[in-house]
Amino acid sequence: MTTAAFLWPVTAGAHINWNIAEIFPNRIWNNQYTTSLRASSPLCLLQMDRKFGYLRNGIQQPELDNFITAAAADTIRTKKPNLTLVHLVDMDSHRHRYGIRTQQAGDALNRLDKHVGDLIQTTKDAGIFEETDFMILGDHY
Ligand SMILES: [Zn+2]
Repeated sequence: MTTAAFLWPVTAGAHINWNIAEIFPNRIWNNQYTTSLRASSPLCLLQMDRKFGYLRNGIQQPELDNFITAAAADTIRTKKPNLTLVHLVDMDSHRHRYGIRTQQAGDALNRLDKHVGDLIQTTKDAGIFEETDFMILGDHY
């Protein structure tokens, strides 16, 4: 089976066909790019960055989730992995920063809803919707 993971926790260096790991540099001599490159599937990360890097602003939200959704959708469309893991962080980040019942968190929830909708639509466009199971998890409600 083929697998893909996008910012899924604790996947650095994992045997995943297309992996963009969620990892942060923890040494002063490392930076985000080299740390991510070492922990991920390098070719996948470079290709996704070339295609969709314009969507990112470092690891800032909501731009990071825009990038991750685009990368996941492209991989679903072109590779059709048997298992795709997508960790969208925008809403969690905004709830931690501003509080749960804030305008910022509500806006993030609407962006999250759109990203999930985009990924579901991608499976329809790729002709795999009927054979796809979706599992949606959250750590704040
Ligand atoms: Zn959290």
